[in-house]
Amino acid sequence: MTTIFQDMVENSIGVDIGASKMRVCLVSEESDILWSKSAPLGPSPSPQTIARLLERLIRDIRDDFSYAGVGVAGFVSTPKGEVIKMPNARINHFPAASIFARILKKRPIVVNDAVAAVYGEAVAAKSDLDLVYLTVSTGIGGAAMLNGRVVAGRDGNSHEVGHIIVDPRGRLRCGCGGSGHWEAYCSGSGIPNFAKWYVLDSEAKKSKEFKKLVESPSLKSAQIFQFARTGDPTCLDFMDELVNINAAGLASVINVYSPSLIIIGGGVAFGRWKDYILRSFDAAGRLLAGRPPKLLRAALGDLSSAYGAALLAKNPASLG
Ligand SMILES: [Zn+2]
Repeated sequence: MTTIFQDMVENSIGVDIGASKMRVCLVSEESDILWSKSAPLGPSPSPQTIARLLERLIRDIRDDFSYAGVGVAGFVSTPKGEVIKMPNARINHFPAASIFARILKKRPIVVNDAVAAVYGEAVAAKSDLDLVYLTVSTGIGGAAMLNGRVVAGRDGNSHEVGHIIVDPRGRLRCGCGGSGHWEAYCSGSGIPNFAKWYVLDSEAKKSKEFKKLVESPSLKSAQIFQFARTGDPTCLDFMDELVNINAAGLASVINVYSPSLIIIGGGVAFGRWKDYILRSFDAAGRLLAGRPPKLLRAALGDLSSAYGAALLAKNPASLG
């Protein structure tokens, strides 16, 4: 047996299989993060490439834990330990718990990544409030914790908030096949598409500079936020539209769950906290049915899901 973290048999490992990266972290009995590692998944990963990457990432700590949890960016069946579908991977009905059990030497709990993240962030914030976690990254995801339990639903996929309808005219199509969905407009992958649609829409005059920017085939959302700083009027109009639509999504989530606390994470949120998230949260205020919740930035960075999966492995009863 090779161990780095000896005499810590109550440790738990959390694995987060995201849209583009795998992250793993080792969590102590006292819920401290002892170790973490991550690596890119590569384009369109298969079950085999995912399993090989997991094996490689945990090589040094494979005897250092007694519990294992896996958070997955996609649809899961927690009771069956299956990944039903990952939109960014060639994966359908992957028996993740059985396959990973051979690598981890114990059967992991398999949960949706946002479900894992809300639990991780609640523990990190030492919060017993009713709370919602949102991630704004490649897509938009979320989960809720009410009355001290994560609301996971029958198979564990309760909160597909990224597919809330924010545009009933359905001008943009979502990766899921539906139209007018929140993440098709306001996520890291949606914002560039929305900007392209915005400049092609013929209702108003558009600046040449903004048109030129959004014509780039490799356009990233960060370039648009950056360009807004030049004061380009079309870009600023687009930002107003983007913030309004993002506010509609945020307000819908708050109206549905009525949380006391909302925690937001994800790459786009971390990168654009003031000019995107705070602006949208302020704009959401006028769309709320009740009182606004307190807003926090996710404390665990990109480890929310891995950390939460590790903790849920030890406390599966927290899943409601
Ligand atoms: Zn959708």
